Amino acid sequence: MDTKAFKRSLQQSDNYHRKGFGHEAEVASVMQTAYQSSLIQQIRSNNYRLERGAVTIRLAEAFGFCWGVERAVAIAYETRQHFPSERIWITNEIIHNPSVNQHLRDMDVGFIAVENGQKDFSVVGGGDVVILPAFGASVQEMQLLNDKGCKIVDTTCPWVSKVWNTVEKHKKKDYTSIIHGQYKHEETVATSSFANKYLIVLNLQEAEYVSNYILHGGDRAEFLAKFSKACSAGFDPDVDLESVGIANQTTMLKTETENIGKLFEKTMMRKFGPSNLNEHFLSFNTICDATQERQDAMLSLVEEKLDLMLVIGGFNSSNTTHLQEIAIDKTLPSYHIDSADRILPGNRIEHKPLGGDLIVTHNWLPDGNIVVGVTSGASTPDKVVEDAIDRILALKAAVIA
Ligand code: SF4
Repeated sequence: MDTKAFKRSLQQSDNYHRKGFGHEAEVASVMQTAYQSSLIQQIRSNNYRLERGAVTIRLAEAFGFCWGVERAVAIAYETRQHFPSERIWITNEIIHNPSVNQHLRDMDVGFIAVENGQKDFSVVGGGDVVILPAFGASVQEMQLLNDKGCKIVDTTCPWVSKVWNTVEKHKKKDYTSIIHGQYKHEETVATSSFANKYLIVLNLQEAEYVSNYILHGGDRAEFLAKFSKACSAGFDPDVDLESVGIANQTTMLKTETENIGKLFEKTMMRKFGPSNLNEHFLSFNTICDATQERQDAMLSLVEEKLDLMLVIGGFNSSNTTHLQEIAIDKTLPSYHIDSADRILPGNRIEHKPLGGDLIVTHNWLPDGNIVVGVTSGASTPDKVVEDAIDRILALKAAVIA
């Protein structure tokens, strides 16, 4: 399929919208009430610090809603204003945040159900409005919705579109796209749909496995079994790793994406010689600024003397999970929660350890004076962070002045 030509013709269609509808003013007040927080504003202007009784809160200097998410949420709200009586659907959670998604449900925006790993689009009729989330949608989904005659409101973040353009460049040169990401993540599913040949590596370890295969060969069957869900149909590691380009899920750990890029650059240089590198390796910087800033702010926050770290964001939010990884690397006690309701009376917290299931920890706030580091993922509104801080203060019997 010529994905580039399809996207070009879609963008020229009257049924396709990728900007707001001029209702910014009405939407701005909803966004302000639902998502912004005066306490957080106050902490920001006090050098990201709040001291109340025995509690010191240290907020990361970059955290929470990124502009891509804010833009997507605002466009989704405007869509309801612009199409007051049409049926409106969204192909997936607009972002990985439970409160934002609940607001959309309250506005009568339907979420496409997933049955056995497949989305059920049978509910969507011609003339319905369908919103594509911030992390995009696969080209096959866009085509299906276009064929049905739906009005498509595309909130895909421009940073994600930039990665898709990169993958198109790989395809044009007949390079295999090596995508640093999670093969099940919606953004990576969408990105891989624009590629011709692709291989998805989750981390540096998997990248090293592939690099070794390129340099020394290996067990082809084992390779194919290992990446069975993470490569294009008919992928052949003995043929399709001659020339590679690097792409990424925008929310991965940026240092890991950079290291994976360097690893493949070195691998291709060793295999084909430095003077032939350009015929075998392509790389563009597609790490999103917001992800980078939040990770950098977290890296500097964990250098301070903290008793523990609270990481707030959806449990399926990749960028939030990566923030927690930074705390774990520092062996700092850290608690990942998706809403303030996880902070329970009696000094208990229900949280999700990295890669594990929800658990309840008792006495998570130490006695005496404590310093709590707080950060939140790119899809977490400030209001949620404020609610969590309020609960910590209440637990330590501190009072907000
Ligand atoms: S995290 Fe980056 S890529 Fe994702 S929506 Fe925000 S700005 Fe866009």
